[in-house]
Order: sequence, then C-alpha cells, then structure tokens
Amino acid sequence: MNGEIITIGRELLMGEIVDTNASYFAQELANAGVTVRWASQVGDDIEHLHEVIKRALGRSQVIITSGGLGPTSDDLTREAVAHVLGETMSVDAEMLAWIEGVFRERGITNMPKTNIKQANIIPSATFLPNPGGTAPGWWVKRNGSQIFLTPGPPREIKQMWDNHIGPAVREMTGAGIVHTRILRTTGITEGGIDEVIGDLFGKENPYLGIYAHRDGIHLRIISRAPTRTEAEALTAPVETEIRNRIGAAIWGVDDETPSARLGQLLMDANMTVGVVDSGTGGAVASMLSQTPGHEHWFRGSLVTGPGGAPLATPLLETMLGGVAGKSAGAVSEAAALQMATSARELTGAALGIGVTPPAGDDDEQMKGTIFAAFVTASGQKVVRGRFYQSPDRALPRAAMFVLTEATSALASDEV
Ligand code: AMP
Ligand code: MG
Repeated sequence: MNGEIITIGRELLMGEIVDTNASYFAQELANAGVTVRWASQVGDDIEHLHEVIKRALGRSQVIITSGGLGPTSDDLTREAVAHVLGETMSVDAEMLAWIEGVFRERGITNMPKTNIKQANIIPSATFLPNPGGTAPGWWVKRNGSQIFLTPGPPREIKQMWDNHIGPAVREMTGAGIVHTRILRTTGITEGGIDEVIGDLFGKENPYLGIYAHRDGIHLRIISRAPTRTEAEALTAPVETEIRNRIGAAIWGVDDETPSARLGQLLMDANMTVGVVDSGTGGAVASMLSQTPGHEHWFRGSLVTGPGGAPLATPLLETMLGGVAGKSAGAVSEAAALQMATSARELTGAALGIGVTPPAGDDDEQMKGTIFAAFVTASGQKVVRGRFYQSPDRALPRAAMFVLTEATSALASDEV
C-alpha cells in the first residue's frame, strides 16, 4: 500500500521551520504497514496544491497533508482538495458552533470572521476532531484511497494520528496495533547491556531495539498484535526479563524525563531537592523548573558559571562551604560532596545536589570532567561525567546526566 505525505506552507520552503511533521508521519505510516513512496513540500499556492494533490490521488492509497488549515487567506488546503475532488464546500453549523465555543473558552466572545472557514467541509469528507486547536482535520475516502488533512502544529497532528488516522490506517493495512515500551537506563553502556541481555535481541515480535540517547541508553520493546491488550501481553514478559537482569540501571519508562521522574520520586518519599551548581550554568535548575509540580519539591539553586568564579566571591565561598575554588581542586569528589551538603544547608532540602565546575584545558585526561554528588540524611553518592563539547551542547547534556544519575540514585535507594 503506497503512502504519500504532503507538507504545506511557504515557511517550510523558506527554510524557516524544519519539517518534523513529514518525518513524524513517515515513521507512523511505516509502523502501520504503509510504504511511504513520496513526500513533498509545497508552498501556499493554489495551483501548486492542485498539482500535488491530484498526483497523489493518482498513485497513493494513503495520503496525509499537514498545514494550511488555518483561518488566513494563505491557508488553502481545504479549497485545493475540494477543487481536485470536484466538490463544493459549505459551512457545517455544528462545527462552527464548536469553534465559537473554543474562542469563548479563551475569553473571546466575537470570533474573528476569518475563522468561519475552518468549519467548511465537502460532502464526502468527515471532520477529524482537534481538541488542541481551532482547525479540525478532514478525512476523505475516494476510489480506494483515503486522504487525511491535518493542521500544522505538531502536537495537534499527534493526537489526530493517535486517535483517528492511525487506527483507520491500521484497519486498511491489517497491521493491527503496534505497542512500544521504552525502558530508559543510565550508568550502563551499550556493550554492557548486550553482555547481559544479548540473547533477547534479534527477535521479530516483540522486537527489542537499543538506542543511545541524551539521557542514557534506551531499550525499546515493540510488539505487534491485533489488539492493544494482546500487544501488551507480548511486551510484559520481555520487560520483566530485562528488569530481572538490569533493573537497577532502569530509571524511567516511555516518555518520562529525568526531572519528571525525580519529582515523582521526591513526592512519593515526601522529600525536596536543592542544588549548588558550578557545572551546568543553571541548566539543572532550569530543567527542574520546567517540570510541572516542581513548586512542591524544588527548593532552589545557587549557580556560578561553569568557568568557575574568582575564589574570593562570597557566593562561591558559600556554595563550596570552604572548599577551594576551581583553580585549586574544586573539580573533585570532595568538592562535589561539600557542594551537595551546602545545597541541603542553604535550601533546607532533604536531597542536596552538588555539581563541580568542569576541569579545564590544562589536563587532557580530565578536560570537561565534572563531579556530581547527591546527599541525603541517610546516604551519599558521587558520580563523574565528561562533557567537552561547546557550552551550548555540553551544559544541557551535563544537566541531563546529573538529573538522570540523581533519579537513579534515589530510585535504587543508594541515597
Ligand atoms: P499552519 O497550519 O500551516 O498555519 O501551520 C501552523 C504552524 O504549525 C506553523 O507555523 C509551524 O509552527 C507548524 N508547522 C506547520 N507545518 C509544519 C511541519 N511540516 N513540520 C513542523 N511544524 C509545522
Ligand atoms: Mg501555513
């Protein structure tokens, strides 16, 4: 079954935004058993839209468009599809009332007239609901082909795929359900994992994949079955087997982030966290601050730049609690522990995180090395990592490392 993706918008052709929708749909369609043979980008031009849509209908059984469903005059996808199919659009009263309701919820009583066109539809299409926006999608079946019109914002297309398009396409291909379970690990290398669970790789269903990721190595268990329950039943024993062998290295599952998982662990244990950070330029605090609910468990952070700070500043002296500054050995386990202890004292948190500045260029072996310590009333742990990329990459990576290690330490009762 041929699949085709058409992403629409002048901004794509100007290079202003990256076409993540095309790669998203390409991946989902492949998982659903569709062979994607063509993907095109087209500007907001009615003639060009006619051309690509006509061509797609002539050669593909599953066609997905994204973009051009907005309220403005350059949003032309509906018009183009109606024209190619030879149908006339009219406003659907029920959809119009729904869109007006969205505006009312946002505190706008007079919906702009331009939005009326988002309630337009042709007789052979049905709407794809869009709870996240004002632009509903369309779903059209024509001569054995199905065409799905989706809006531009990635979050909106994801829910449309999950709730409507994906199930419809799977029904067409008979691919059934694809269930993915991600196990997120830290402190273990790909080679190390392979040594312990190597025998679980190389099977078709469930398929076990291994990927290096910013926050550690991910294991992906992918199961295919007619129903979700059956797919989950295939996944479960593999997950259990993996946990039996490398359970301590698994800090999270699916789309959990280290900071969200850490927050959850802290909440469960009725604990809080404070940070003294000379290694990530505040990226640890920033990631914690972006986590919903952090006000319940994040007590604050003291930060210097990762270049260190002159020894004499009162801030650094406070943070280090008397340990010497960068130039004189602050890149050490002892300094990290002292900083984590200071973090507890200064913020009153139960878990203190201390991150040393990175070692400088003078020592090739150590360059970019940081130490991170985690201290609670009942235990302590120190880890080291090395981040020698440019600061815009090194700082977030270092922060991700610190948070993953903190989560892992807490999850496995090491601190
Ligand atoms: P539109 O529905 O065409 O008005 O698009 C609305 C917004 O969705 C755009 O401003 C982009 O931020 C985003 N968007 C549109 N198309 C894509 C795409 N192909 N990939 C990623 N984001 C997109
Ligand atoms: Mg657009």
